[in-house]
Amino acid sequence: FGSWVVAPAFNLRRVARVMEIKNEEAASLNLHDTNEDLVDKIMYDALVWSSLHGLVVGDRNHQRSGAVPGVGMVHAPFALLPVSFPESQWKHACEVAPIFNELIDRVSLDGKFLQDALSRTKKVDAFTSRLLDIHGKMMELNKKEDIRLGLHRSDYMLDEQTKLLLQIEFNTISSSFPGLSCLVTRLHRYLIQVYGDNLGLDAQRIPENSATTKFAEALAKAWKEYNNPKAVVLIVVQPGERNMYDQHWLFSVLRERHNVTAIRKTLSEIHADGQLLPDGTLLIQGAVVAVIYFRAGYTPTDYPSESEWQARSLMEESSAVKCPSISYHLAGTKKIQQELAKPHVLERFLEDKEDVEKIRKCFAGLWSLEDADIVEKAIKNPEFFVMKPQREGGGNNIYGEDMRESLLRLRKEKSEEDAAYILMQRIFPSVVPTFLIRDGICYKEHAVSELGIYGAYLRSKETVIMNEKCGYLMRTKVSSSNEGGVAAGFAVLDSIYLS
Ligand code: ADP
Ligand code: MG
Ligand code: MG
Repeated sequence: FGSWVVAPAFNLRRVARVMEIKNEEAASLNLHDTNEDLVDKIMYDALVWSSLHGLVVGDRNHQRSGAVPGVGMVHAPFALLPVSFPESQWKHACEVAPIFNELIDRVSLDGKFLQDALSRTKKVDAFTSRLLDIHGKMMELNKKEDIRLGLHRSDYMLDEQTKLLLQIEFNTISSSFPGLSCLVTRLHRYLIQVYGDNLGLDAQRIPENSATTKFAEALAKAWKEYNNPKAVVLIVVQPGERNMYDQHWLFSVLRERHNVTAIRKTLSEIHADGQLLPDGTLLIQGAVVAVIYFRAGYTPTDYPSESEWQARSLMEESSAVKCPSISYHLAGTKKIQQELAKPHVLERFLEDKEDVEKIRKCFAGLWSLEDADIVEKAIKNPEFFVMKPQREGGGNNIYGEDMRESLLRLRKEKSEEDAAYILMQRIFPSVVPTFLIRDGICYKEHAVSELGIYGAYLRSKETVIMNEKCGYLMRTKVSSSNEGGVAAGFAVLDSIYLS
């Protein structure tokens, strides 16, 4: 592992920060030799641990890695050591998870609110328009979802200056990494156990991560509510998915702990093999589907032809439990996030004033582009804003000069296209020196982190069966990169060290 070079002084800063070694103490160590050696050793052990414990993804350099499991695997990118995070903020993020779950459920039931809030967007955004069409059709059919399952992830950044934990977004579809995030937590705990004496760290200060087991439990409980012992869980996947092991982790727990079978199908396979019986039962190759879990279908490229849209409609019309339903999917759009942040809107959905306050505390500035004053401000100072379309999966937001130009063009053309976007206050998290490990290579970088709290919600008619926080995902990215997707290649998986 001589492929990276780290300046000893840099080592000291990062390690000292994470390890909370006091300055005098650190200065007294001869880190010129020892520290680099130590980092080297930790990294070696981390890479071995990842390979032995399935902290892996398909290797993009290997052609078949997205098609055949067990072929072309590489360790998932990770941070060598956890990043320190204030315990009070961590607790707040955990505390609001069930409130957000409840909020989304209530918003999902207000079809008119969803249609109205997205009505301008519908005219200019073909993808959102298709989702709204399916939603509108379900409203016409007066289709009710008695069993509702949400597997969510609410993402936050800690704003350095104000010390506020601000929500980036709330994901209701395809919240990724419940499987691998738990492994990174275990990896970090292991490294601290092994190197505890050298590091002066306590593994107990890394909170436990239960995302895999909790999500599997929620899926199993939803399956049970459907009440057909022969039925299966259908996972909707993208063709050639390289993040398949994250998904396989969930489904191996589902099988081993709950004795529930899951099958993986792409939207186009569902179109070919799916069948809807008159009573609403969905069959896939003859098997009854109890629960549909989407790990695809959130981005326009998932629908290259009408077949994929027909598959989505077919599933929505069925009696299977959808995770998410079309209503949950729409409730998680950025436009709805912005609508919910308007004054008096939360109060329409939540009666408990304290709950409303707790949630509102996490809201960053969010605006529609109809607000001319804000657009003017964003044109003048683009560095303080992010412009977001109704998209998921990372890499879609507009920043800086690009944003300025887009806003000027939209204003000049008086284009309706402005409804495709929202504006958001840019959050500036602390920049921390970090060792990022990717492809067995260590990069020393200045990095920022984003904390995701998983949440599961399951309801059957009037009974809330499950409403919990379910572990977490820390993602750390090079501070100069605007976007933070691990799969998209800008970030690494991380965990937190409570301070
Ligand atoms: P997506 O649904 O594509 O993940 P996000 O809203 O999470 O969309 O934006 C993608 C990434 O952009 C985030 O992970 C984060 O790194 C960055 N980002 C988004 N909003 C902000 C913001 N308000 N301030 C700073 N960075 C942001
Ligand atoms: Mg998202
Ligand atoms: Mg995101």
